[in-house]
Amino acid sequence: MSNESLANLMSEERSFPPPPALAAEANVTASAYEAAAEDRTAFWAEQARRLSWSTEPTETLDWSDPPFAKWFADGRLNVAYNCVDRHVEAGHGDRVALHFEGEPGDSRTITYAELQREVSRAANALTELGVATGDRVAVYLPMIPEAVITMLACARIGAPHSVVFGGFSADALATRIKDADARVVVTSDGGYRRGKPSALKPAVDEALTRPGTEDVRNVLVVRRTGEETAWTEGRDLWWHDVVDRQPDTHTPEAFDAEHPLYILYTSGTTGKPKGILHTSGGYLTQTAWTHHAVFDLKPETDVYWCTADVGWVTGHSYIVYGPLANGATQVLYEGTPDTPHHGRWWEIVQKYGVTLLYTAPTAIRACMKWGDEIPAKFDLSSLRILGSVGEPINPEAWMWYREHIGGNRAPVVDTWWQTETGAMMISPLPGVTAAKPGSAQVPLPGIAATVVDDDANPVPDGGGGYLVLTEPWPSMLRTIWGDDQRFLDTYWSRFPGRYFAGDGAKKDKDGDIWLLGRVDDVMLVSGHNISTTEVESALVSHPKVAEAAVVGATDPQTTQAICAFVILRGSASEDEGLVEELRAHVAKQLGAIAKPKRVLPVAELPKTRSGKIMRRLLRDVAEHRELGDVTTLTDSSVMELIQRKLPETS
Ligand code: ATP
Ligand code: MG
Repeated sequence: MSNESLANLMSEERSFPPPPALAAEANVTASAYEAAAEDRTAFWAEQARRLSWSTEPTETLDWSDPPFAKWFADGRLNVAYNCVDRHVEAGHGDRVALHFEGEPGDSRTITYAELQREVSRAANALTELGVATGDRVAVYLPMIPEAVITMLACARIGAPHSVVFGGFSADALATRIKDADARVVVTSDGGYRRGKPSALKPAVDEALTRPGTEDVRNVLVVRRTGEETAWTEGRDLWWHDVVDRQPDTHTPEAFDAEHPLYILYTSGTTGKPKGILHTSGGYLTQTAWTHHAVFDLKPETDVYWCTADVGWVTGHSYIVYGPLANGATQVLYEGTPDTPHHGRWWEIVQKYGVTLLYTAPTAIRACMKWGDEIPAKFDLSSLRILGSVGEPINPEAWMWYREHIGGNRAPVVDTWWQTETGAMMISPLPGVTAAKPGSAQVPLPGIAATVVDDDANPVPDGGGGYLVLTEPWPSMLRTIWGDDQRFLDTYWSRFPGRYFAGDGAKKDKDGDIWLLGRVDDVMLVSGHNISTTEVESALVSHPKVAEAAVVGATDPQTTQAICAFVILRGSASEDEGLVEELRAHVAKQLGAIAKPKRVLPVAELPKTRSGKIMRRLLRDVAEHRELGDVTTLTDSSVMELIQRKLPETS
């Protein structure tokens, strides 16, 4: 990637300082950067003291065999005890841990004391089913309290969980069960999705007919929808039969800090899923600390809500482990944002007085498309910090989030991280950083990140290249499950000694970091590298565009030609001049070189089930190729609609 080509694109001048009242009371102030800069490992050793250890660690980082890190290696702890019991012991048993909101409108409130009893019962049940320390448990559940309870029960007995997103197919589930060699699967009859019960158990039944899944002894089934469910006697067991009769106390055992906590397969935006392995002490330290710092959590008064599914890393780190380690009160919502109406999320914010909200750009852009008047109908004045994660957030979507959801009052924190990093890495701090729309800005205290060129040299301010992490961090992946070589090849070979994140980035004139999307998505147009993110953001800055996906299609004249797919905002119509108007708009924003050759208004974009745009499929369409692997797509009919829109010749 040449530096010069990226340098002049996108110049964002807006900046929003922290609200003075928030800054004055903030959990973390600018001094954290200084402390961490002075002694990075001492800084993390200090943060590890947020946890309750049964044996306090005396070692911090062991980097004697890079890139295989050990953090707090001589410490011992129980992760579930840290997330549940210790809050009860500290006198907070009556505090609400989960405000569960089912899609049909049913709700359930679970205090920390109740959570302790539920997790204890589930841990006793898993033990009765023969799950021993080190055995893997596959979890295939909707967003119901039992998902959180199961994960914590696994952590409690030292059985690594492998959560598979409930929207994945039987094939995807079978591959993951096989790869992790799981012994028990926890699932449900189904969950509610878009106003209807949606079955889950049939996918488990089908997955377990596949070769390589024979080691699964039992399937533990939560009754959620009450729909009729096929049953394999001897193998299948109802949760209410097995878990409910267990004693509601359980003594947690301490495990080594490096004991495996879970395996999680990445969302598969780029190719074959990788089983990312996370361990206990370092992971919990960094998820808890970042949640405390970036959301400024005040556990006594805040109501936190992360809209991610527990099947993604965001759900692991910022629904289950970080918030619960911090004793947070949170909302857990089962369904979709538009069921039964487009204001469902905002209704939930109003109902529970949500103060901290964490969601993804894809959801924000969907809300922009539905219209400003929808959130305006609800009282959102409780919100005090808004988080974003998952993709680069376009500056216009950021501004919309701040204005229409945050009332121009709540700071927006754009948090960059990955399944592999386990916890947030680059993000503003709400009480410290003057926030710039669209930029994740600065590595968090204790994190070392930079942008390098092809030869691994850090780029100067104003330059662009590859995002790398230059020092180990506590919640880093320890390997790819069963495949150390792939771990080395994927992350540590492109720039020896540095972690290659696979994302393009640039540093602006202040040295702040802007994420530019995946390196694989960068386009080459007439000798210039152009980032898809920047062209997409330029399109979204047009008042008629809610969402855009841009790809480079092979072109005889220019190597690649920019092809843009756009979703229009609610009120905009697709008239004659629109395409020209949008092309001209991009040229004006970014320069003639970035002007798309083609602009196609479409109704939907292909997305992974975690809501990310799958550009490689759009590239296949733009180049009139047969589509690649569509198994991780939410809705494959979207591709047919798009293909039909595309003229045969271009
Ligand atoms: P796979 O690795 O299997 O292709 P994935 O990368 O989509 O899937 P995740 O680990 O869930 O799986 O996503 C991490 C990626 O999401 C990052 O590498 C980055 O591309 C993108 N991302 C996450 N947060 C941000 C952010 N705040 N700004 C820009 N990009 C982000
Ligand atoms: Mg990735």
